[in-house]
Amino acid sequence: MTTHPFVDYIDRSSADVAEACTSCGACAEVCPVLPHTEVEVPPSDLVGGVRDVLKNGGSLDGDAADWANQCDGCGVCIPACPEGINPRTMMMLAIGVGNETATETPMLFRKMGRAVRLLAAMQLAPADYQRLMRMPARRNADVVFYVGCNAIRTPHLLFNTMYVLDALDIDYEVVGGPAACCGIIHTKWEGEREAGGRVAETTLKRFGEYEPDHVLSWCPSCELHLGETIESYQETEFSFEHVTQFIRERSDLLRARAVRPLPLRVVLHAHTGMAELGENVAELLRLVPGLTIVDVVSESGYTCGGSGADRSPGRKAETRNVTLERMQRGDVDALVTLYHGCHGQLSAAGHTHGFDVVNFTDVLVRALGGTPRTDFLEGWRLARDWQAIVGATAENLAHNNIAVDPDWLVDVLPDVFLGKEFAGGLNELL
Ligand code: SF4
Ligand code: SF4
Repeated sequence: MTTHPFVDYIDRSSADVAEACTSCGACAEVCPVLPHTEVEVPPSDLVGGVRDVLKNGGSLDGDAADWANQCDGCGVCIPACPEGINPRTMMMLAIGVGNETATETPMLFRKMGRAVRLLAAMQLAPADYQRLMRMPARRNADVVFYVGCNAIRTPHLLFNTMYVLDALDIDYEVVGGPAACCGIIHTKWEGEREAGGRVAETTLKRFGEYEPDHVLSWCPSCELHLGETIESYQETEFSFEHVTQFIRERSDLLRARAVRPLPLRVVLHAHTGMAELGENVAELLRLVPGLTIVDVVSESGYTCGGSGADRSPGRKAETRNVTLERMQRGDVDALVTLYHGCHGQLSAAGHTHGFDVVNFTDVLVRALGGTPRTDFLEGWRLARDWQAIVGATAENLAHNNIAVDPDWLVDVLPDVFLGKEFAGGLNELL
């Protein structure tokens, strides 16, 4: 039986990393999550455990599993490697190849897909729902805006971004929804490499059908998976970049059009991992007349949420506290968030701790003279009237062909909106 090319690719990448790695331990020495684990072995032995899995297969266990399970993708290890290996990629490969969680998270993708469809269908009228979930008729477009799957839980941020692309006269089409997953869930969390390869190939093919020059990601996990971990799997005719980079490269045009003054003093929330995306957002905010970035607070990981900072609760609490302490000085108008996961968590934190939170896309839309899309999730979480929410969303759910028992929905909404991971807990309930 022949193996899928993607499985060969992952095997080859894993073997190459295992071969190049000398187990010097430099990556583990600088890793900021390590002090929050139970790991006691020396760094070189620790990396040796990861390397063994990449070389010989099998499950990550013991100290290596403890480390890998808490890796939040912060990327601090990347410049530390004297061999030019990307240790974050080494960790992503090892988790997919051998992490025990691969067998502990069966059906994750299916559950996530159902959760995404349900939350999006509650918030969106059919035309908007279709725009994020379905492939439009094929045509050539300069740009594909790839919205991924999970971000569709917070559709207002995606429509805000589209407002900015429209304002810059970009010719684009949208690709997204669970049917256009990047494959990270199958490859990394479910350990289903062949399925992950098929999913990634299908999505890359969909991009290619538009013959675009640029594919713009929104989701940091899609960016990490397609743009880093499996970057060399397939050559493409288009560039794959984050939407903030693309907009930043059009700063002159944005500056000319984003002329509505917004006299705001803000703190920008960013992440250590993929720090360049936070820098893009900082540059975009600096174009807004009247707005001042007083501070940038970088939290650990490459994003908030279960794939990023939440992986290491100890490290997360450490850097989240820096954000909360900064906001409690009370000398700024708002905290500006990056991605969907960050926005959900920090909006909730803002209400608990008494500060305002806006997403950078809200700011850009307002500066361009527009009105940001409504953040329904935020309103519902504050209102806590679950019966009223179910009543108000029944029409959207019916028109979007999502059948759900209203009594069940009333029962689960408190966990979804007031649970530990805002709006992420729905995966576990479906
Ligand atoms: S990405 Fe961050 S958490 Fe993961 S191994 Fe590297 S330094 Fe440690
Ligand atoms: S720093 Fe590089 S060579 Fe050293 S253990 Fe880490 S990945 Fe291997």
